[in-house]
Amino acid sequence: MPGYHLLITNMSYLVLARKWRPQTFGEVIGQSHVTRTLQNAIQQGRLAHALIFSGARGVGKTSIARIVSKAINCENGPSKEPCNKCGICKEITQGASVDVVEIDGASNRGIDEIRRLRETILFQPVRCRYKVYIIDEVHMLTREAFNALLKTLEEPPSHVYFMFATTEASKLPDTIRSRCQHYEFRLLTPKEIGEHLTRICQAENLGLEPQAIDLVAKAAQGSLRDSLSLLDQVVAFGAKTKDQISEALGLIPGDVIKNIVVAILNGDPKDAILTIDRVHRFGGDLQRLTHDMLYFLRDLLLFKELGVDGESLYSNPLYELQGVDEQLIDTAIISELIHMLSNALEAIKRSSTPRILLETIVIRMSRLKEIVKIDTVIDKLEGVLKSGQYTQTPPMALGTAIPGATNSSRSTVPTKTTPSQAPSDTPLKKVTPSTRPNVDHAPAREKDVQGFMEYLQNVSPPLWSILDRVKALEIDNGILRIFCNSSFQENRLKDPKCKKELEQHSTSYFGQKIALELNGSSASKAKDKKKVAKNAVSQRLSAREALKAHPLVKEAIKTFGAKVEDIKLFE
Ligand SMILES: [Zn+2]
Repeated sequence: MPGYHLLITNMSYLVLARKWRPQTFGEVIGQSHVTRTLQNAIQQGRLAHALIFSGARGVGKTSIARIVSKAINCENGPSKEPCNKCGICKEITQGASVDVVEIDGASNRGIDEIRRLRETILFQPVRCRYKVYIIDEVHMLTREAFNALLKTLEEPPSHVYFMFATTEASKLPDTIRSRCQHYEFRLLTPKEIGEHLTRICQAENLGLEPQAIDLVAKAAQGSLRDSLSLLDQVVAFGAKTKDQISEALGLIPGDVIKNIVVAILNGDPKDAILTIDRVHRFGGDLQRLTHDMLYFLRDLLLFKELGVDGESLYSNPLYELQGVDEQLIDTAIISELIHMLSNALEAIKRSSTPRILLETIVIRMSRLKEIVKIDTVIDKLEGVLKSGQYTQTPPMALGTAIPGATNSSRSTVPTKTTPSQAPSDTPLKKVTPSTRPNVDHAPAREKDVQGFMEYLQNVSPPLWSILDRVKALEIDNGILRIFCNSSFQENRLKDPKCKKELEQHSTSYFGQKIALELNGSSASKAKDKKKVAKNAVSQRLSAREALKAHPLVKEAIKTFGAKVEDIKLFE
């Protein structure tokens, strides 16, 4: 009868996680930093009486607590490894020892449970050398329970050991933590899990193909126990290949993730979108898919830097990463893709239409390369500007504002534009053929008004703040001309103390005796208008020349392959 056979199978079937639970320190996977320290402490008889084992679930915390219990109590010990043959070892392995007590902190979290525990602590062990209390999920205890426990931890009896296992050590009170030796367990890498699963599959004769094992190892996300539970499910489904497993467990095979990411890197959204559609139709979880894509990109980024040496860090098998064309792995682009996708992941988690979000982001990611190209151009232009060879002054003021580009002793800085400013005040009025830029022979920066303002900002901020608001400043053959905006400014600058200070600063900056010339707002306007009218035609012509010859314009023509069609002068 088939039912009978099935019953027998189930009865004899021990879940893999229990069957393959490590019984010695040597069998523990991936926590050698913990096991080595514990073994030394046991051997030297210096094991602390209260230990905290913290780390993610399924990484071996309670398994190691049991191994420690056996190692210190073994009839052939205490030793670096329990013998696992003596009566004590066997009892502890079976969970039948009266002296090794395992308590679930989540369901025994109150003060009464801890009080009862404290009463039993006083009695000597029945069969073992030491009494051991293993409290799992200890962070779940109430504050009162912790306080009760604290009193015991302050002076633990020499025949008692406490081992606290927790996934959230940060939730433990400092008073508890400070009285314990703390061991932090780490997540296992997919490679470590994969190797362990391979051994189990061989021993159990499960006949899984290597890529199928990789898929399970990756899905376990660092937890050995989870990987074994998944393997149990795989066995129950009778799945052997990666496709069967991905279907049975709703996992997305690594090569599917790789195909989507490569399509994005190739700027081919069509391929990526069609693959996402297939995953969706086969019941794949899109949140999971986004998560896996994110990790694939992260692996590529690390792979570029670490290569084969980083294998233990990757969440994808090395062969998947090696299968991506090296030229596609561009650090700048992948960093940006990771940024985009991690933002999208949060939105996808909350969204009722995750598919639309994922498709949109995938299209944008595929187009990123084009956007980056334009960014590169902009960066290049910004680099040109920042190099100091050219200034960022608007082209209209080119003729005067290029530091060091003039060969006359005259330079002018237009200050902030105010609504009251007359049109004739535009900096164009200062353009003359003699001030045309000549970058090929650019001398070191000349002492100009702009430099003087920077200097003044440092040596006398109050003076600087007055001058910063005037209409225009000019230095011309030892005369600093100030065109005021208001009578208020004028009066401030006329103040003898202020005037003297300004003369001193300008003299020390320009390295020659400087005289001040104050111009009221009305006076300057009249003067400017007269000046402009005189040379209007020739100045306009030279302004156009100056613009055309400006290095920034030339650079833009070169970079964009552009040509100058028209020059407009605004007045
Ligand atoms: Zn033993």
